[in-house]
Amino acid sequence: MVMQLSIDRRALQARARELAQGPIRARAAEVDASETYPWDNVARLVEAGLVGMTIPTRYGGQGRSFLDAVLVIEEMSQACSVTGRIVVETNMGAISAVMAYGSEEQKRLSADLVLKGDKPAICITEPEAGSSASDMTTRADKRGNRYVLNGKKHWITGGGVSRLHLIFARVYDEAGNEEGIGGFLAIRDETPGLVIAGREPTMGLRGIPEAEIRFEEMELPPAALLVPPRGLAKGFADLMNAYNSQRVGAAAVALGIAQGAYELALAYSETRRQFGRPINEFQGLQWKLADMSIRLAAAQALVYKAATSGDAADGSGFPDMLQAAQAKVFTSEAAIQIVNDALQIFGAAGYSRRNPLERMARDVRMFTIGGGTAEVLRNVVASAILKKKLPQTRDGWLEQTKRRE
Ligand SMILES: Cc1cc2nc3c(=O)[nH]c(=O)nc-3n(C[C@H](O)[C@H](O)[C@H](O)COP(=O)(O)OP(=O)(O)OC[C@H]3O[C@@H](n4cnc5c(N)ncnc54)[C@H](O)[C@@H]3O)c2cc1C
Repeated sequence: MVMQLSIDRRALQARARELAQGPIRARAAEVDASETYPWDNVARLVEAGLVGMTIPTRYGGQGRSFLDAVLVIEEMSQACSVTGRIVVETNMGAISAVMAYGSEEQKRLSADLVLKGDKPAICITEPEAGSSASDMTTRADKRGNRYVLNGKKHWITGGGVSRLHLIFARVYDEAGNEEGIGGFLAIRDETPGLVIAGREPTMGLRGIPEAEIRFEEMELPPAALLVPPRGLAKGFADLMNAYNSQRVGAAAVALGIAQGAYELALAYSETRRQFGRPINEFQGLQWKLADMSIRLAAAQALVYKAATSGDAADGSGFPDMLQAAQAKVFTSEAAIQIVNDALQIFGAAGYSRRNPLERMARDVRMFTIGGGTAEVLRNVVASAILKKKLPQTRDGWLEQTKRRE
């Protein structure tokens, strides 16, 4: 433990641990094998008060911090990564964006859904705009007293199970002039034109759907538009500040999976005997375990630090962009290595689907990709430490060069 936790936080952690090590762990393999969303786990999380914890008390939440959410995510992810991700998205990301930037009506609507167990979907990525997310083409055209959305998103976590959607789109005024990128709130099944078009057959994290979503002449009132504090012109940057909280959450899931794998390997190394002695008496494995514990401690320090940074450029209290990126890059890469080493310590048993290591190895692989790849987040880190805008496109560099001349 890298930080002295308060009595309240330790109590929260203990409550989460009891649930995670009990019914959540017992269901994890089945959730993966059946590829079905664990509604029973959602009900357990709701009952234990572990969804919507970060929502302010005036909207029915507990006004808890991102660090509190991280502690719960770590516990859940040790047992079941999918349940860990549900805790992320019911406490961070889209719901935090609404709570920071939304109107009174948007906050009440979203809080009510999330507190009942709805995991909001955040819709940014498009087939032709992945890492270059700001190249998105989904558009929202103002027509009279409504916006009309058209476009396509893919790899949307929770598509088909989530009700609340936060949809990033280019906003155009009546005359067809672009105003910037905004976030629209839409509720599945109440919004004609929001079409769940298909599910991706994923490598891991199989209990939660990754969906393609189409918006076909989808009409929304202006009240559905989430306008960040610096307006639509800076809409993308501000919405991405909110997304930094989700990045820290994703890092916490990876951390939890790695912790779970490490604990399993530690215990197995004591009971498995070869050449007449426990395998942890071989120095080759001792050093592996030592390296795993060192990486875990470093990752936890980065994740906790990012969770408590609250230093976003728009003054919203979201995690600092640099710290969130550092935490996610390091933790996601370290976690892949730790889970891989844990599997190795299990020998053939690690390769069997009877043991959770193979599921953990598939699940953990995602975290250097989703929510900003390790490469793109390294660009974010480089840009922050060099204090330079680092445009990735040829046109961007040309423009910067012209401005300098
Ligand atoms: C399980 C899962 C869940 C997801 N959930 C969501 C979700 O809920 N909502 C959502 O909107 N999106 C979601 N995503 C999408 C995710 O955010 C994108 O996959 C990610 O941003 C990368 O985009 P891409 O897959 O198109 O890769 P690409 O952008 O095509 O990248 C391909 C490769 O090129 C590298 N690359 C690209 N640009 C650069 C550069 N400038 N410098 C160096 N390397 C570069 C990348 O790092 C990568 O290795 C999810 C993805 C996964 C796998």
